[in-house]
Amino acid sequence: MAWILIISCLFFLWIFSLCKILIPSSSPLRNSFLKAGVHEKRNVLLVIAHPDDESMFFTPTINFLTSRGHNLHILCLSVGNADGKGDTRKRELYQACAVLKVPIQQVKTLDHPDLQDGFGELWNHSLLAKIIEDEIISHSINLIITFDNYGVSGHCNHRDVHHGVCKLIYDTSQRDVEAWELVSTNILRKYSGPVDIWFSVLGVMQHSSGRMHCLVNEHCRRSFLAMAQHKSQWVWFRKLFVALSSYTYMNTLRKIKLGACEVTAPHNYMACEIN
Ligand SMILES: [Zn+2]
Repeated sequence: MAWILIISCLFFLWIFSLCKILIPSSSPLRNSFLKAGVHEKRNVLLVIAHPDDESMFFTPTINFLTSRGHNLHILCLSVGNADGKGDTRKRELYQACAVLKVPIQQVKTLDHPDLQDGFGELWNHSLLAKIIEDEIISHSINLIITFDNYGVSGHCNHRDVHHGVCKLIYDTSQRDVEAWELVSTNILRKYSGPVDIWFSVLGVMQHSSGRMHCLVNEHCRRSFLAMAQHKSQWVWFRKLFVALSSYTYMNTLRKIKLGACEVTAPHNYMACEIN
């Protein structure tokens, strides 16, 4: 009968954690992300690799930014054409962004021959940095959000996007642009749904310098609706993923330090040159 007790405890913990997220006044987090200039609306660029990245991984961040009036742009660096459904997936991205309250004219999708979706496709970091820099200049962007070095799922396109952003802020004149990365978690935390809020809170408390913030999802239902717009991807295991994934309920963002980019840069730039 011990297993019944364990399952009951886990169920209770799941529900309790979900309530903590859904009821803002009971949230254990007092979020100060972008509070410095409370009256200042930022021009934010979310850089993703594929259509559906925004709905599967970044909806807590997107909901946080749009609900506070920040000007969010999304740059999707491929149409996700690995299965030949690029046109469909591009259209689905715009539909998902409409659900997420991101203006369609602020969503841009690329179909560059050197930036194609796929596990075997290595993306050139210099090319990525140039494309992102152009976007920064044309929209007066002052804050970038993207994947971290592992890219949540370990997908090489996600990781290349991270290194492209690192190269941009390390190599170019865009050093006054803040860059933040979505922190990847281990597999247990990744599939712990709302329960991960407790681990996220502990993680943020260990970084009192303000370089790490946990954003809870203020509109969880909107995340499901957004992902459901990606009909070509909306199969049973992705429905399960969205329900169980901690990324549906919260995002932990960490500020990318220039020093961290300097450490990773030589290795990755060499990889680009080999490619
Ligand atoms: Zn992706």
